[in-house]
Amino acid sequence: MLVIVLACGFCTPAVADSPLVSAIRVEGTAARTKIVAEISAETGFSVKTLPAPYRVVIDVPNVQFDLPSGIGRKKRGLVQQIRYGKSPEGQSQIVIDTTGPVLIEKSFAAGRSGKRKARIVVELAATTPEVFAMALSKDSESAEASEASSPEFTASLPLFLPKWLAPSTDKRKVIVIDPGHGGIDPGAVSPGRTMEKDVVFAFAQALKEALDATEQFEVRMTRDSDVFVSLRERVKLAHEAKADLFIAVHADTVRGQTVTGTTLYTLSEKASDAEAEALAQKENKVDVIAGIDLGEQNPQVADILIDLVQRESKNHAVLFSRKALDQLRGITTMTGKPLRSAGFMVLKAPDIPSVLIELGYLSSRDDEKKLLSAAWRRKMSQALTRAVVKHFADGAVAAASP
Ligand code: ZN
Repeated sequence: MLVIVLACGFCTPAVADSPLVSAIRVEGTAARTKIVAEISAETGFSVKTLPAPYRVVIDVPNVQFDLPSGIGRKKRGLVQQIRYGKSPEGQSQIVIDTTGPVLIEKSFAAGRSGKRKARIVVELAATTPEVFAMALSKDSESAEASEASSPEFTASLPLFLPKWLAPSTDKRKVIVIDPGHGGIDPGAVSPGRTMEKDVVFAFAQALKEALDATEQFEVRMTRDSDVFVSLRERVKLAHEAKADLFIAVHADTVRGQTVTGTTLYTLSEKASDAEAEALAQKENKVDVIAGIDLGEQNPQVADILIDLVQRESKNHAVLFSRKALDQLRGITTMTGKPLRSAGFMVLKAPDIPSVLIELGYLSSRDDEKKLLSAAWRRKMSQALTRAVVKHFADGAVAAASP
């Protein structure tokens, strides 16, 4: 790897009173790396990360470099190589090409103390491209906000960080179960007057029991009795609970008795097929029935940051729905297209992986029988619980590793 000395042909000769960088040390691992630049006198600096290629740039007002040749060529920890020299603007720069996306965990300048020289210290931590992008957009916001303030700032983790990107903690994952409908809204109704709101509630209770039994999760329900809860309220509740996974439970009805089986839905702006679209519209109408204006989309969704997070949440939701399908297949009949997507209102929490399970069709005598069977509900709940356990165990959700 070549060390490119930036425009050094134009370097001004060393001036007695401009500080001198005499060493750059790199210590650490592929997860965390510290860069120490030894300097003859303490100096202000600023540091930022840049993408494509991933790099960290330290700007120092005016220093000279007196470094052994070949320095910075060796890959170490997160550092691919180090370049240094004058920037086109006449500033001195140290450019650290990194092995991938990094966050600046800490950066500071220290004065001379005893035998130790003055130094600039920058500590890097590996991160994901998603978090890097978020940190970058946060930085440019705060840089605009505090322009011309101190040249020295420390980039840090963005304030807004979805839980599955945040550093892992021992805290139990929070699962929010959302039994559809309730109160004045019965949802689908079978010819025999079985109501969706009742069977999905019974199912949600069984699922909560099965999840609780693992002692691995904190489980909440969006309603714990036969009451009406608006769709927006359900999403808000999941947010406040800081849910790691949101599972909405429904049952559908169609004309005729022949359509049976379970389907898993994730969110998408474009429905995977006309049937999925029609169902989403039907489920979304709930609030209109109850006289609540849905209004336009959640205004947050427009925000780029939220959009990015939502894309990631969707990916996680899809990963989970595949695991759920694996588990449910052996237990029950799935529909011909068991994984679908559509614009369900209730799946629109931007930072929470969310899935909607249509357990079956109340228009089918067979499905109705299943839905009314406590044994079937228990079997299904246990299968879904296995999927949840597997999902989190696989670390798909704790995607903090690079
Ligand atoms: Zn429903």
